[in-house]
Amino acid sequence: MNASAQGEGSTVGAPPLLEVRGLNVSFGKKSVLGRGRVVRAVNDVGLQIASGETLGLVGESGSGKSTTGRAVLQLVPADSGSIRLDGREIMGVRGKALRGLRRQMQMVFQDPYSSLDPSTTVGASITEPLRVHEGLSGRASRERVAELLDLVGLRPSHADRYPYEFSGGQRQRVAIARALSINPQLVVCDEAVSALDVSTQNQVINLLEDLRESLRLSYLFIAHDLAVVRHISHRVAVMYLGHIVETGPIERVYESPAHPYTQALLSAIPVPNPDRKDRGRRILLQGDLPDPADPPAGCPFSTRCAYVMPVCRVEMPATTAVDGGGGVACHLQTAGPVLAGRSLSHLGMPAVPDGRTARGRLQPAAEGPQTSAVNT
Ligand code: SF4
Repeated sequence: MNASAQGEGSTVGAPPLLEVRGLNVSFGKKSVLGRGRVVRAVNDVGLQIASGETLGLVGESGSGKSTTGRAVLQLVPADSGSIRLDGREIMGVRGKALRGLRRQMQMVFQDPYSSLDPSTTVGASITEPLRVHEGLSGRASRERVAELLDLVGLRPSHADRYPYEFSGGQRQRVAIARALSINPQLVVCDEAVSALDVSTQNQVINLLEDLRESLRLSYLFIAHDLAVVRHISHRVAVMYLGHIVETGPIERVYESPAHPYTQALLSAIPVPNPDRKDRGRRILLQGDLPDPADPPAGCPFSTRCAYVMPVCRVEMPATTAVDGGGGVACHLQTAGPVLAGRSLSHLGMPAVPDGRTARGRLQPAAEGPQTSAVNT
């Protein structure tokens, strides 16, 4: 696949803050006798994110999206490729340089318990990166913690509470405050709202949006909920079996998906209006995700694709540009007998998923974090 075409330019028009090219990550190894198992989790991935931009990264469980995020943050080692942050190559940095990098890139996980020590107060948890990276302590540190709690919609007095005293949404706000404490430029949100109920999701998404605008943050927003990704992202990249199969501006991809896998994913978004004509046009994928240790030859989607052609089983499709922006890796775009060069959107798609429209403000239910320790 053509990595440079995958990482097509951002919508913001500025030079990319993050530029990933040809990223490969694998786990396991084979012995000299060829025994053992090697899982190629990320294959030739290319991405770009501009300052102030949100790139959504979607795909089924096991598609490699979380591994991609962790490799960008240098939390898992990559086999090869290039990761540039603000123009500087960061692949494989160690020691002091890696600590410096942590200041620029942070992560928000699905489960805040994984980043918050249950035995220390949230104030102490937020203080830790301030002490390690900024050398702040005492009054200056307490003032910064109060400022950060206020920034994420909590009260300064919450600093003295323990994680178990907060609701799930409030804990995620604390995790966000901790991630922002050292003023990162890029935040990788890995299923950051997936464990929250819809109302709380909306509150946290609105918070992330406000913070992105006020602090000019960039997000790599990894999620399996396509409705959430549509709302928060400027662009989206679709991953399947470790490959990016489609990228593009959010409206283009959601309205006119060019890859059969993207179309199947989007068709699964619930359409709440029973009168909608496109309701029920769900594309059911046949079979399971192939074993990443034994991927199919040619197109990675060839074992489940309704449009598979002989060429798909032998040749990896190159990434080609799509009208409306972005790229797609599919032989239909170049060799399809019926669909060559055309979007699949004419086959019928749910256009507005789950009542959430693209890039508007979500309406949360009554918010609780200012008044109670157990709301949100
Ligand atoms: Fe389907 Fe072939 Fe396109 Fe792969 S390249 S998505 S198998 S049509």
